[in-house]
Parts: sequence; C-alpha cells; structure tokens
Amino acid sequence: MTQKIQMVDLKAQYLEIKPEIDAAIQSVIDRSAFINGQEVKDFAKNLEDYLGAKHVIPCGNGTDAIQIALMALGLEPGDEVITVPFTFVATAEVIALLQLKPVFVDVNPCTFTLDEYQLEKAITPKTKCIIPVHLFGQISNMEAIMEIANKHNLSVVEDNAQAIGADFTFSDGAVKKAGTIGTIGTTSFFPSKNLGCYGDGGAIFTNDDDLATELRMIINHGSRIKYYHPTIGVNSRLDTMQAAVLDIKLKHLDRYCQSRFEAAQYYNEKLATIGELKTPKIASYSSHVFHQYTLLVEGGKRDALLEHLKKHDIPCAVYYPVPLHMQEAYVKTSGYKEGDMPVSESLAARVLSLPMHSELDRKTQDEILSVIYTFFE
Ligand SMILES: *Cc1c(COP(=O)(O)O)cnc(C)c1O
Repeated sequence: MTQKIQMVDLKAQYLEIKPEIDAAIQSVIDRSAFINGQEVKDFAKNLEDYLGAKHVIPCGNGTDAIQIALMALGLEPGDEVITVPFTFVATAEVIALLQLKPVFVDVNPCTFTLDEYQLEKAITPKTKCIIPVHLFGQISNMEAIMEIANKHNLSVVEDNAQAIGADFTFSDGAVKKAGTIGTIGTTSFFPSKNLGCYGDGGAIFTNDDDLATELRMIINHGSRIKYYHPTIGVNSRLDTMQAAVLDIKLKHLDRYCQSRFEAAQYYNEKLATIGELKTPKIASYSSHVFHQYTLLVEGGKRDALLEHLKKHDIPCAVYYPVPLHMQEAYVKTSGYKEGDMPVSESLAARVLSLPMHSELDRKTQDEILSVIYTFFE
C-alpha cells in the first residue's frame, strides 16, 4: 500500500529542508530568547524586503492581524466595515468583536473575490473600511477597490492569509505584492498556508509610519515604554521558534508557489474534458499562488463527487459550505437572509477543493484524477 494521499503534506515539505530547520530550531533553544528573539526581527526585515513593504509587524495569528489592523484605524462602535461573505469566518468575526458592523458585498463568480461592481452601492456615510479577501491564492481587483476607497475616503485592509507571494499588475504595468496595496495588509502563518510555520503565527504590513507605530503598540499591550500604556492593546506575538522556521521557508516561498501553480496547470489540463467541472479562472491583474485548487462542480453533483473521492481515500474539502451572511452567529444580528448574496450561496453549493501543496507530484495527481474520471464515466 502506498502512502495515503494528503490534502496538504507538511511532513514531506519539512523533510526536504530538514537540516536547515533542525539547525534553526536548535539555535533558538541554545540562545533561549523564546519571545522577541533576534529571529523575529530578522524574519520581519526579510519579509519587508521580499514584499517591498516598509513595515512588517509579526503577531500571534492571522485573525489577530485583522483585529489589530482594525483597532489601529481608530474605528468607532457602529462603524460599517465592508467584506465578503464567501471567506473564512475570521474576517467577519473580528469586525463583530470590535462592535463594528459587517456589511457584505457578494463575490465575482469567476474569481471568488470581492465584486468591485457591487462595492459602491454598499457604501453609506457610516462605512469606514473595506476588507477584501484574496481567496484561494488570487488577489482581489485592488486597483478598482483602491479607486473606490480613495473616492470615499475609506481605509482598505487586505486579508492576505491565502495569497502571500502573489503579484498584482496595475493597468500602468506597475507590479506590487499581495497585501502591500491597501492601507494595511494582514496574513496568517497557520501551518497549511502557503508560508506556514509549525504552530500559530501572523503578520501585519503597512507603508504608513504612523500606522506602524500604532500597530506595534497595540500588539504589545498598547505600550511603547514598558509599563506605560497610552492605548488599549492586546498580547499578540510571533514566537522566536516560529520566526526561525518562517525565515527559512521564506527563502523557498517562490519555489513553493511555482510548484503549486504547476500542479494546478496539470489538474486544469487533465480536467478540461469533463464538461461538468469548471477549473479555476485567473484574472488578468493577478497571479495565482493556489493556496487552494478549487473546482466548480455543476449539475448538482458536488456532494456525490465528494463522497466518491472520500470513498476512494482521496482527501478533498468544501471551502466554504455556508457563506457568512447565513451563519447563525451573524444572521441573528445582521438581518441578512438566504438569497441576499446569490453568488456566494451558489458557490457554497458547487465548490470542491482538491489536494494542493508544494510537494504534490504528477503521479499522485494521476491517482486523484483517475478516481475523478471513474465518477464521470
Ligand atoms: C487562515 C485565514 C485567516 C485566519 O488565520 P489564523 O492564523 O488561523 O488566525 C483569516 N482569513 C483568511 C482568509 C484565512 O484563510
């Protein structure tokens, strides 16, 4: 029996860089500066260089990163924050936790990211911020979103947990990294993310010096000088061991993204003949780093295909089965109902994500594909 196929193969990825990782972890233990050690500063600096961002502020996880970004923007309870309903819950959760009001704008049916054509009609005098989510590894239309945000004087926080490493190309040819275009960008280093650590981690990016000062204060109990607290903050740190791991993996990030892209191309090619499957579309303005490889299954067959794959030991997943405007926690307070976000609702019933990671080889993909073929025979 060959090894079981994985959705994400973190062990294989580790084994490939084991000597580097083991040495880095040992060196953290040898020095024992487990919090705010030199590795945290080194990693932040290297990520700034990689992204072309002026400030990278590491923090505890990707959810904290969004929350801290919103705290730094000085929003008032009741202010409206626009985001998408087709995403992981973290994005809307922190809006609600800060007593702000989540306002949903539906997504584009091809790219699964915020539909810029529906954005302006959701803006009210209470709107203060937009959080586009760069879902599955593709950047939202940031040029259009920034144009609308600037016109209405709104902040933009890019939830870049899934697209680190992706490039955005503006109509004038300029290229920027995902997460560095808005007022603030946030990311997660959850192990299965494209740049993942061996536990929890996250970071916040900005090019604005004043915001950077505020963000650094908020992650550290609202303090710059020890035991003096001009503002209310949180405790959200990236620990030294995680930073050491990330600093090594950052050097491999472009290669990881490239091998995900190649695996995606292979799936696309081999699935093109199946009429009831729609392979992922890539927008002209963004590269795609394939955090997820997500198909649309037509003809009401998604759940049957999912069962078929599971029965044959092929892992797969539905990201995400219930759009946020229909989640119990948000229905109660927000007044949204089924039918309000037709694209997200339709996607939730049709999406299916296949195994995707940087070590996925063509032989494993062939095994996965052969099981898909038998379903459509
Ligand atoms: C993973 C993820 C988060 C949260 O990151 P954590 O590090 O798990 O807190 C937020 N938004 C999106 C879109 C994500 O995929």
